[in-house]
Amino acid sequence: MPKKYVMLVDSERCVNCKACEVSCRAEWNTPLGYSRNWVSEVMAITDDGVPKLSLLSGRCMHCDDPPCVTSCPTGASYKRDDGLVLVDRDLCTGCEFCIDPCPYNARFRDPTDGMISKCTFCQPRIDVGEEPACVHVCFTRALMFGDANDPNSDVARRLADGTWQRLVTTEVDVGPNIYYSKGSVFDETVLPKKKEPTVAAQTLAVVNPGLKIGLGGMLGLFGAAGVVKLIKRKDEVASHEK
Ligand code: SF4
Repeated sequence: MPKKYVMLVDSERCVNCKACEVSCRAEWNTPLGYSRNWVSEVMAITDDGVPKLSLLSGRCMHCDDPPCVTSCPTGASYKRDDGLVLVDRDLCTGCEFCIDPCPYNARFRDPTDGMISKCTFCQPRIDVGEEPACVHVCFTRALMFGDANDPNSDVARRLADGTWQRLVTTEVDVGPNIYYSKGSVFDETVLPKKKEPTVAAQTLAVVNPGLKIGLGGMLGLFGAAGVVKLIKRKDEVASHEK
């Protein structure tokens, strides 16, 4: 059975120290003003009518049915067999078509290289058997990471109690793979937003794969800015996500 990487967030253990954000920035050299992960402070009323604060670590949810992938005109955004949603830097043109469809606003365009950036679950680290940087530095163990398909993994054992929650609504469920502890409260600031498919996404959904690549290439090449980005990518940009 292929691996299925998931992250568990125990909001009761989070103390909002931001070590997860700092480690991510250091690992990925994220430019000032941008972040691949974050901690949302949600104050909401529990089912018992009691106000409660939850600290919710967030990032790309590595969705089972990722709208970012289907909206990518060049095939740069893709889902790996182990569940990771990644961006192939050789194919990304920075067109931004994938940014708006993400219901969790997990993507941004990195101004330093013009490419799309987001959490990769620290793919280079996990491919050599290490934890994602944010999980590694979380001293309260509020973050856990592992293979949900391995019955002996910590995450599989914890998920087995059936109490974990995901950020989904009756309208929007694209199969996020981050789970939050039972007592976590959510509000509209963290729940996924319903996005209407863009005209580009609707067009791409009906064209065949070969045409899609060609169309994607044309869209990426559109305009002088796109051409400059392509030249910069080849000459100046070190790859993080491959
Ligand atoms: Fe794509 Fe957003 Fe889902 Fe991540 S959270 S896989 S960027 S749709």
